[in-house]
Amino acid sequence: MPLVCPICKTPAQELPGTGEVTGFRCVIHNNFKVADAVLRRAEEYTREQWEIALRKAKQRAWEMALYQKRRFLILCKHRRLTLTLQ
Ligand SMILES: [Zn+2]
Repeated sequence: MPLVCPICKTPAQELPGTGEVTGFRCVIHNNFKVADAVLRRAEEYTREQWEIALRKAKQRAWEMALYQKRRFLILCKHRRLTLTLQ
C-alpha cells in the first residue's frame, strides 16, 4: 500500500523514522513525523485537527530555535565579557 500523507491523503514519501514514529515527506505539508499510535487512529481525526497539530508543531520548533539562538548569544556575550576581564 503506497504511503499517503495523513493530513491531505496525497501520496507521500516515507522518511527514516524511529520505530515508534513514521516520517513523511508531503509536497503540500513538507516533512513531519507522526507517532505510530496516532497513525493507527488517523481516520478518527479531521483534516482540521491534523492541520492544527502541524501548526503547533511548527510553532514549537520555531520557539525552540529562538530559545537556542538566544542561549547561544548569551553564551557569546558571556565569553566576550570573560575575555575583557582577563
Ligand atoms: Zn499533506
